[in-house]
Amino acid sequence: MRLLLFGAPGVGKGTQAKLLADDFRIPHISTGDLLRTAVANGTELGKKAKVIMDAGKLVPDDVMIGLVRGVLGSPAASKGFILDGFPRTLNQARALAQMFEELGIHDYRVLNIEVSNEAIIRRLSSRLMCRNDGKIYSTETYGATAGSPCPDCGGELYQRDDDKPETIRHRLEVYSTQTSPILKFYEDLGVELTVNGMDTVENVHRNINRLLQSTELR
Ligand code: AMP
Repeated sequence: MRLLLFGAPGVGKGTQAKLLADDFRIPHISTGDLLRTAVANGTELGKKAKVIMDAGKLVPDDVMIGLVRGVLGSPAASKGFILDGFPRTLNQARALAQMFEELGIHDYRVLNIEVSNEAIIRRLSSRLMCRNDGKIYSTETYGATAGSPCPDCGGELYQRDDDKPETIRHRLEVYSTQTSPILKFYEDLGVELTVNGMDTVENVHRNINRLLQSTELR
């Protein structure tokens, strides 16, 4: 199973990726999580990335391509993976196609999760993330607040710096100008699948699994 999760920030890529990674027992590779780990560890990459991420901009292609190349080439990813947050530009999509070629990967799907812009803004504004396991909660449905413990692991729930209203607006703009055009690239390759993300986590998860089954990717 090699799956790329595609969609605007806040459509539920991370949440669904974690569930699918559990289903298929393959790694969830989130470029956002990799960068946040680098930030938390205070590495050179982390220091540079933090400024860019907090502004809602994209980390340069060469940095991201290098990062993903290292992870996809590792033994952990040899049996499959769920890639979440990459590619985000046409350049990255082309580089990924090249990496797949080099790694002999021909069978993969791009799962596009669709959610309305209003719902995205509402979701991102109420989103909390666990500092320890990266799980996502909402102040709306779960009633948690920043600083309270993660129900799963006890880690601290926090609001991401890039989930502030002005940054959200910019990230959606970046998605619409730089990232969404990639979908055409994958449609042309015939590997794109679309799922409606305007439903409960459980229903979206079930629908994704049905869709994957119907395309015989399971
Ligand atoms: P995410 O957790 O996927 O929303 O990513 C958080 C932030 O990390 C993004 O807003 C970007 O600043 C950066 N980032 C993650 N993945 C990429 C990528 N593929 N290309 C450029 N920047 C990225």
